[in-house]
Amino acid sequence: MLDQPRPDTEGEAPEEVLHRVFGHPAFRGRQEEIVRHVMAGGSGLVLMPTGGGKSLCFQVPALCRPGLGVVVSPLIALMEDQVAAMRQQGVAAAALHSDLPDDQAREVKRDLARGAVKLLYVSPERLLLDGTLDFLERRSLALFAIDEAHCVSQWGHHFRPEYRGLGLLATRFPSVPRMALTATADPRTVEDIRAQLGLAESPVFRGGFDRPNIFISSEPRESERGQLRAFIKAAGDGTGAGIVYCGTRAKTEQTAEWLRGDGYDALSFHAGMEPGAKRDAHRRFARGDAVVMAATIAFGMGIDRPDVRWVAHLDLPKSPESWYQEIGRAGRDGLPARALLLYGAGDIALARHRILESPAGEEQKRIERARLEAMVSIAEAATCRRRILLRCFGEDGPENCGACDVCRNPPKLFDGTVPAQKLLSAVLRTGRRFGVAHLVDVLRGKVTDKVAQFSHDQLPTFGVGKDLSDQAWRGVARQLVAIGALDVAIENHGELVPTDAARPILKGEQKVMLRAEAVTAGAPRERNGRGAQPAMAGDPLFDALRSWRKREAEIQGLPAYMIFSNETLASIATMRPQDAEDLAMIPGVGRSKLERYADGVLRVVREDG
Ligand code: ADP
Ligand code: ZN
Repeated sequence: MLDQPRPDTEGEAPEEVLHRVFGHPAFRGRQEEIVRHVMAGGSGLVLMPTGGGKSLCFQVPALCRPGLGVVVSPLIALMEDQVAAMRQQGVAAAALHSDLPDDQAREVKRDLARGAVKLLYVSPERLLLDGTLDFLERRSLALFAIDEAHCVSQWGHHFRPEYRGLGLLATRFPSVPRMALTATADPRTVEDIRAQLGLAESPVFRGGFDRPNIFISSEPRESERGQLRAFIKAAGDGTGAGIVYCGTRAKTEQTAEWLRGDGYDALSFHAGMEPGAKRDAHRRFARGDAVVMAATIAFGMGIDRPDVRWVAHLDLPKSPESWYQEIGRAGRDGLPARALLLYGAGDIALARHRILESPAGEEQKRIERARLEAMVSIAEAATCRRRILLRCFGEDGPENCGACDVCRNPPKLFDGTVPAQKLLSAVLRTGRRFGVAHLVDVLRGKVTDKVAQFSHDQLPTFGVGKDLSDQAWRGVARQLVAIGALDVAIENHGELVPTDAARPILKGEQKVMLRAEAVTAGAPRERNGRGAQPAMAGDPLFDALRSWRKREAEIQGLPAYMIFSNETLASIATMRPQDAEDLAMIPGVGRSKLERYADGVLRVVREDG
């Protein structure tokens, strides 16, 4: 990484820089409009889903406008990777943060002083030091970009007190454009960000929130490992990475362990790990080929890897916002990716109890409860899941997205009033003291030790449910929990307890529609468009290019995707460029990469004959 900086982009047109530096043929979505606005000196808030292409919105104007571009980023561990990626594109980028060894920090400052840096990534703490601010005040600045801007809001999921201080940029640098960028679209957080960062008068640019390349599905938890195994088999392509989100730290470790037993290169990550271990895990995730990360939600911010092929949740997320942000880490390269959500009645009840018992104020609890119930309705959806999800972000999706399990395999709804009554009456007759497993035994008429011990085979409800399978009965119980007719006594032994909402059902005053369900293990039967496999897996030239990329990445100590994305390699394998001119036409090949890699790539293509 000792390349001479090449800050010759100033004054160039944004389209030129997009093409020459980044190798992209055109702006996407609202990028062009945003870039124009900032080029003209405007500030604003950019809301786009993860993978929506936020980075270019500040990178391009930072390169085209005169002066230094300053990017505030909360995650030190990943700043280095962002800088390395920019340098691969031939941009003079540098990072300043508290983990930087003194000698390196001195070097960065020297480069800054002699104007050899075009884009500076900096942690908020470092930026807000008097010395840094004084230095910046004397410099010509292209813009400030505040990445992961939801960190400024106490309503957001990742509140960072040090982000609050960024409000002073508006007063100290009134003439420098300020851009805030986030994937969080929750209206309350958005308004808070605008207020905190002095952007109340500036426009909000909202990108489309749909990520149609992510196939989403949700299943009741039946056999967690079996379901996850089947999902990974269907979703993994042997090259990209996957993430398994777990509800607890212990579960991340257990999950990583059994996945390793299955032969996956699996790691775990949670907030309780040593900083060094976290950093290592981040790096291994970024750099490995097919890596699986079992993590709590602490793993996330700043995952730039574009080829995450799948994201699985083993426990119910607490809101659609968190879930969407987490699954949005899949398929940033635009290729097909998958998300699977597993959940059970216990998750729903536990999350409700946590909110009830949290010390938060009533208003905050009301918001959290609404978010949780929205999440439950997505998990339990009988109509297009994506449509329900997008509605949470104020967007109207199509009636049927065609890329979720419900659209692909619509569940059959049936009048479940009678089974619901049978289950509720079994709950009452057994004295509200038993969990779902025992109740199912009673309904199915199984004489277990426990049934004999309590003489439950003498009850009128004993054996009245032989018409449904065990799994179907668990489904009835879970759906009754989801609609609030049953509660799970989390603080005791998970016994099912009827609520007031059960009464009209028992009395036959209220009909209950239930979903007939079968566990399909995450795999839709037929595939959408290109399918989950990269179009080229198994193609000899594509594979040869991937080995070349792997060697190249190892030599430079970089993640493979920073050299070229899978998509770019696939295009190369298809187009078979014969010379540098052909190669330059391929999306993802900018000038810097052309200079670096044309020889290597063309040699691989020629050798393939
Ligand atoms: P975000 O920061 O919003 O999560 P990124 O900026 O990392 O998303 O972009 C996601 C992916 O989309 C990256 O691989 C990036 O190279 C690609 N991308 C962004 N803009 C364009 C574009 N105009 N044309 C082609 N690819 C793009
Ligand atoms: Zn759908």
